Amino acid sequence: MISDEQAIGFIGLGNMGLPMAQRLVAAGYQVRGFDPSEQARRDFTGQAEGTAPAEENPGKALLAADPAAAADGAGAVILMLPDSNVVESVVLGQLAGLPPGGTVIDMSSSDPARTRLLAQRLAESGVTLIDAPVSGGVGGAQAGTLTIMVGGPDAAYERFKPLLSAMGSRVMHAGGTGCGHAVKALNNLMSAANLLVASEALIAGQRFGLDPAVMLEIINGSSGRSNATENKWPNFVLPEKFEAGFAVRLMVKDIKLALALEHAAGVPSAASEAVVAVWEAALPEIPADADHTAIARWLADHREP
Ligand code: NAD
Repeated sequence: MISDEQAIGFIGLGNMGLPMAQRLVAAGYQVRGFDPSEQARRDFTGQAEGTAPAEENPGKALLAADPAAAADGAGAVILMLPDSNVVESVVLGQLAGLPPGGTVIDMSSSDPARTRLLAQRLAESGVTLIDAPVSGGVGGAQAGTLTIMVGGPDAAYERFKPLLSAMGSRVMHAGGTGCGHAVKALNNLMSAANLLVASEALIAGQRFGLDPAVMLEIINGSSGRSNATENKWPNFVLPEKFEAGFAVRLMVKDIKLALALEHAAGVPSAASEAVVAVWEAALPEIPADADHTAIARWLADHREP
């Protein structure tokens, strides 16, 4: 008999949500998934039900007709949605009937200030909202090795740590509500800056006559290394795959949130402003759903006079 704690509503079965929900199923949870995309719905039930024998895959992947059905009687409702606009429309719309005592875990990369306001609003009806965004990409979601940064009260963190540990190998309590979303946005600003500057430097080296593979080998043993040089360039840029699974539009959303945080804190942010300006300039010139690693191709296609 599955207890309520073992039943999880999961809303948003996209690039990240699908493998995360599948990790929960593999860990024995009954996951009731919802996504408006037909493809996402097919992927969820098809892969999760068909991949492993019952003893290795003890949970269940069930499709819910809508978010309210996914949440009905669940121990928690997880959201893995594009941004705060979608999160608010789902939480204040289809999930408006959540009973007192319910918990929403927003694992999307949302706006930290809006998360705090939304949590206050839900608290008025006895519902807890915690933020638990992730880092580690699609590969980390598939492997269950995500870093998960939790914002919320101590008790909620302790209660949901076992659930989150089924999706991530590093589950950290970042602080109060909104702190998870804040550190996630700031992390992505650093990641975007690293990829941008690494790409500019590597393209300059190439034009000087260096072999980029040789440059990467040197830099990855030197102080200029980062995830951009250790992972994104060798795996997605050099082989011209540009398919890390994180859309450029989502990266631009995140770095604008981080810049707003810096501005609100009164931090001198000239470097961050320059990074955001370049990504924003690239966005309309890169196909709408392109991967964020395509920023390197966009740079390579340009030449300053
Ligand atoms: P995605 O676009 O692949 O998935 C989002 C899913 O939400 C889609 O399947 C979409 O159909 C669904 N959706 C949209 N509106 C909905 C609604 N009203 N109700 C229910 N479902 C709805 O995006 P993703 O790459 O999976 O990213 C999800 C979140 O995780 C974003 O906030 C992103 O910034 C963050 N994130 C992504 C990565 C990555 O590598 N892709 C890594 C860390 C964090």
